[in-house]
Amino acid sequence: MLVATMGWMALLLLSNAVPALMSPPIAGLTAKELHDSFDQARGSARHEAIDILEARGTPVHAVVDGVVAKLFLSKPGGNTIYEFDESGTFCYYYAHLDRYASGIHDGMHVSSGQVIGYVGSSGNADPSAPHLHFAIFQLGPDKHWWQGTAVNPYPVLLRLLRL
Ligand SMILES: [Zn+2]
Repeated sequence: MLVATMGWMALLLLSNAVPALMSPPIAGLTAKELHDSFDQARGSARHEAIDILEARGTPVHAVVDGVVAKLFLSKPGGNTIYEFDESGTFCYYYAHLDRYASGIHDGMHVSSGQVIGYVGSSGNADPSAPHLHFAIFQLGPDKHWWQGTAVNPYPVLLRLLRL
């Protein structure tokens, strides 16, 4: 009975894909710069992201090889990028960008490590505390850039930095 239960749990774990980053979003990022704020409240919603404080204009790098699914100007997020991985399993979201890297456009392929934008405080970020708001979500079957299940980026980033 116990063995059967454990087998079922292993199956459940296997069915949940885990995002694997190829590059950090900020060059030289260290574990001590990371603070888990996934479950913190932001207004009436859960944050479901990580904030990485950096100087305005710091380059932001694609974390995986993938496709720019959408460049979107949102009221809270400001200048944002939705990047899908090659398999369309996960979407990586970069927000509060000061600006996009030149030439970045919807549908283009980007390589991990490529500069796609620059840290800023666009949207509802405090202008005195520019930061990268970085989120990961697992895409649904329809692969809509605006729909998915949030994944905590904190342990994902930690795993990358400690490899
Ligand atoms: Zn944030």
